[in-house]
Amino acid sequence: MNIFKIALFGSQGSGKGTQAKMLSEKYNLPILATGDIFRKEIKNETDLGKLVSSLIKDGKLVPDEITVKIVLRELCGEKYKNGFILDGFPRNIAQSNELEKENGLTHVFELEIGDEEVKRRLSDRRICSKCGAIYSLTVKPSKQESICDSCDGALILREDDKPEAIQKRLNIYRKETKPVLNFYKEKGKVVKVDGAQSIEKVFEDICKAIEK
Ligand code: AMP
Repeated sequence: MNIFKIALFGSQGSGKGTQAKMLSEKYNLPILATGDIFRKEIKNETDLGKLVSSLIKDGKLVPDEITVKIVLRELCGEKYKNGFILDGFPRNIAQSNELEKENGLTHVFELEIGDEEVKRRLSDRRICSKCGAIYSLTVKPSKQESICDSCDGALILREDDKPEAIQKRLNIYRKETKPVLNFYKEKGKVVKVDGAQSIEKVFEDICKAIEK
């Protein structure tokens, strides 16, 4: 049996979350999305949530000691033993070094889109405050305005999708996350995909590379 340990890279709004969900359904793989974990903690007002809330709102990264511990502990779970999809991790070299010690990735995808498209998509993006489902006001609107199709939760604009935080997140991606891609490029693991294509075409390109 092939074990796929996949990571999706790409600047904010490049479609990682959407593709992770589609890949998870097709290959029956669990998703580990660090942003979702943190958002859940914030929503539940846990100690961790309180600790990371202002960093996330401000578009900054959560310290590695916290993030790496959560991810490595999670990946030890039974659910991940036959593979997984990472969305939002590793985000810097320190994180990729820790991950590679135990869980070498088999596939790394880079979803490429330009900054203007990022800004357009993020101001358009709405997420369900209850189940985290992702919508777009123009490309994938909910059936009923501001209400999630699957759970009736309220759709909201993420705090860090507000213009002040977007540029900061793009800068961090360039400065801290791009070097991680270079690290995996040297290992011959990176497949670049044009993230500006339709959701279906991006998915097709990713699946082709996985099944090659
Ligand atoms: P995302 O949903 O992946 O865009 O993540 C939302 C926010 O959560 C980021 O802007 C960071 O503040 C935090 N976060 C998510 N993943 C990581 C990570 N791997 N390392 C540090 N902070 C992270």
